[in-house]
Amino acid sequence: MATTKRIYSFGGGKADGNKDMKNLLGGKGAGLAEMSSIGIPVPPGFTITTEVCTEYYKNGKKLPKDLKSAMPAALAKVEAITGNKFGDATSPLLVSVRSGARVSMPGMMDTVLNLGLNDKTVVALAKKSGNERFAWDSYRRFCAMFGDVVLGMKPEKKEDRDPFEVILEKKKKAHNAKFDSDLPVEALKELVAEFKAEVKAKRGVNFPDNPMDQLLAAIEAVFQSWENDRANAYRRMNGISSDWGTAVNVQAMVFGNMGDDSGTGVAFTRSPANGENDFYGEFLVNAQGEDVVAGIRTPQKISEMVKYFPECAKQLLQVRERLEKHYRDMQDLEFTVERNKLYVLQTRNGKRTGLAAVRIAVEMAEAKVISKEEAVLRVEPAALNHLLRPIFDAGAKKKASETGRLLAKGLPAGPGAATGRVVFFAEDAEAWNARGEQVILCRHETSPEDIRGMNASHGFLTAFGGMTSHAALVARQMGKVAIVGCEALGFDYHAKTMTVTTAKGNKVVKEGDWISIDGTVGELLEGRVDTMPSEVVQVLIDKSLAPETAATYQQFAKLMGWADKARRLAVRANADQPDQATTAIAFGAQGIGLCRTEHMFFGEGKIGPMREMIVADNVDDRRKALAKLLPVQRADFAGIFKAMGSLPTTIRMIDPPLHEFLPHDEAGIAELAKATNKPVEKIKARIAELHESNPMLGHRGCRLGITYPEITEMQTRAILEAAVEVSGEVDVKPEIMIPLVGTKKELDNQAKIVRATAAAVFAEKGKKVKYSLGTMIEVPRGALTAGAIAETAEFFSFGTNDLTQTTFGLSRDDVGTVLDSYLKEDIYDIDPFVSVDREGVGQLMRMAVTAGRKTRPGMKTGICGEHGGDPASVEFCHEIGLDYVSCSPYRLPIARLAAAQAVLKEQKAAKAKAKPASSKSGKVAKLAAKPAAKVAKQVKAAPKRKVAGKRARA
Ligand code: PEP
Ligand code: MG
Repeated sequence: MATTKRIYSFGGGKADGNKDMKNLLGGKGAGLAEMSSIGIPVPPGFTITTEVCTEYYKNGKKLPKDLKSAMPAALAKVEAITGNKFGDATSPLLVSVRSGARVSMPGMMDTVLNLGLNDKTVVALAKKSGNERFAWDSYRRFCAMFGDVVLGMKPEKKEDRDPFEVILEKKKKAHNAKFDSDLPVEALKELVAEFKAEVKAKRGVNFPDNPMDQLLAAIEAVFQSWENDRANAYRRMNGISSDWGTAVNVQAMVFGNMGDDSGTGVAFTRSPANGENDFYGEFLVNAQGEDVVAGIRTPQKISEMVKYFPECAKQLLQVRERLEKHYRDMQDLEFTVERNKLYVLQTRNGKRTGLAAVRIAVEMAEAKVISKEEAVLRVEPAALNHLLRPIFDAGAKKKASETGRLLAKGLPAGPGAATGRVVFFAEDAEAWNARGEQVILCRHETSPEDIRGMNASHGFLTAFGGMTSHAALVARQMGKVAIVGCEALGFDYHAKTMTVTTAKGNKVVKEGDWISIDGTVGELLEGRVDTMPSEVVQVLIDKSLAPETAATYQQFAKLMGWADKARRLAVRANADQPDQATTAIAFGAQGIGLCRTEHMFFGEGKIGPMREMIVADNVDDRRKALAKLLPVQRADFAGIFKAMGSLPTTIRMIDPPLHEFLPHDEAGIAELAKATNKPVEKIKARIAELHESNPMLGHRGCRLGITYPEITEMQTRAILEAAVEVSGEVDVKPEIMIPLVGTKKELDNQAKIVRATAAAVFAEKGKKVKYSLGTMIEVPRGALTAGAIAETAEFFSFGTNDLTQTTFGLSRDDVGTVLDSYLKEDIYDIDPFVSVDREGVGQLMRMAVTAGRKTRPGMKTGICGEHGGDPASVEFCHEIGLDYVSCSPYRLPIARLAAAQAVLKEQKAAKAKAKPASSKSGKVAKLAAKPAAKVAKQVKAAPKRKVAGKRARA
């Protein structure tokens, strides 16, 4: 380790690192190095690597000894470029100290600006800049930031405000100042003294004056922020490994708060909300960077910049073009103008909504900036949800507006429609969501601490902040509906009310009231407003919109077309009804991978005979009840077969424990007693008899068909009679699937009944249809003995809901109570009922595929557990060579894209392996590093998804 390079310098048109070194330098560090090398004006600095962070934690939270001794040399390079000296009493160098992980974790970790200031250097800065006000303004900001980040001066309770903010507020009142910038120098000087006194009072320590002490403490604080509560929560939501660590960037300060010829801003090279190819950003005159992101003042549009700094505005447009061309992707950049000189402080691939992601990828591919394959790789599969989510029903919204329910307008930060009950605190959002409430988090502004509550909300509404404020950023990333900068709102957190100033007077909205927010246009409405399907759904499913008039649909369709070309895995749907089958086909299903027949029993006229069958005393009575079920099941199957045409349809035999079908209330029991002509007591006794201590591991799956063979017989008959019936019309392809098989003999037992019944049906009908017989692999023994089972099974479908349950020995219905602490403790990276556990469950799957195909070469294998629609799991299914994944119809586009990405990533990796040295362009590394499954994980590993592994019921 002694020779490990820990510090990478950049600046002055040169850099030690480059954009492909994100793992070592973090995204920010790699971006700064790259920009520096290609001549973008970047303030000089150096990056302390992520490895040092790992070392820091390994050493029991101690900085490596030689880091301190390496500081002077690293600083000297910055000093040489800037002409300023760290801690110098004449020409002091001030630095920023910022975090920067390999993937961006916006706002989750800490930053300290203006570091190097003390009572001496502030005087020098005042003199040198000729602006005493600026120097003291910077100093008071530094004291507050250092106090907060390094010395832990945080609000103590959720209703409390930042302690420095409270002092600042008082000072403003005393000086009758509306904005911070209205405060006189004397007040700023007092603030510095008061901030330091507050630190002493609360923390019992003196504020450090030595710049090197400040620097080392800030570096350490940034490393520590890797493990803070919100960073941990963010990592869990995004599947980011806690082992990666963060880099620390120490960079010469440039000042946007030097007067009206200075400013700071953030910009996106295209719209992150809808993807429009328009320069999109915001800036504040005479302010520091944090002011824009924190949403303290609502900033101005980037198009206004030309009025203040015409030269810099022009140069920024050139930077926009340069960076987008260089990175071949939409960039999110931060800049500062210091006395009419432009500096770019950061560039990274911009976070974007699903809508924007699809549009940018498709438009860049059509403009030949990227290839179609790259376009396919650019869109996180789960982000497609955004194109499928409902929007407000136009009629309902118009009516709401006309009846005076349109309360206010703000900035449309996260497109879509959300209706929910108002909560004012992130903790409440979590708590309300946990009890099943749909909530909208309403706040003055949001901060990274709110991240879990934001995840639990349907949408956010803030009074302050622009399109690049924290709330807007998080909305885009989480795919939430959001309105920000809605200035008509005033909050009273203690009273838990929000006052909306409207043309007709004030409207008070209380906690728990319903509101609706339209994040596409930025409108806040009172009460609930009905929603309608998205454009894509209107075209594909409702057929209420002509495709040629739907621009979003067109982009979606193009991307899907490119994905379909690339993928190897087929996609099927889990569908139980003809209308679901039709929807599935519209979303690209190539078959049904799981038709849960038990869902059909809950339909009209079916539950009665089903219950009669269950409470029957003997085989004859059971057969009589089954005979009533036969025609209804047959009709269901015929409907599905017709909807599927020549596409294969896997029908699974009845699976759940029988007591799930029985009534548990007095009225239901009485009704069943009457229908079966049995005494109530007898029905109750039968229900009691069917009670199981552990039903998920009890009398279910193939065990039912084995104890009641007549059920298997009836279902086989219904399937094959329906198949024969429709075979004149469609090229029907039934696949009969036996669930929960753990031994070959179980399957043999059921196969014998199926085969005999099939022979009987074909003989009776005088017509044969081709069908296949397979099994689900959903218990470890089934996977371990797959070779033997494949002697009988013609196909395998992995029931990973049960396979996860049985492999972990963790009930899928009760996982919720365990999950929160397991995710928090990092025992699970992600809920294993959401994303396949590759090491355990995945190993069993891999083994079963290999053994099955050894017995039966080329055997068809698929997955039909919930994991079939999870991008990371789809990638795994591709890797182990399954033939298809099956998921719910609305997840099919996600599965198609994930399947395509699996192929493309594999190809990229193979290419990179073949010529490692030539990946200099960084294209390969960048694409491979793109975490396809991250958004999906974020959405699905949300703490409240307690039902993720629950049995899907009718
Ligand atoms: C499974 O176990 O993964 C499966 C698809 O079956 P079910 O969810 O119906 O038990
Ligand atoms: Mg199952």
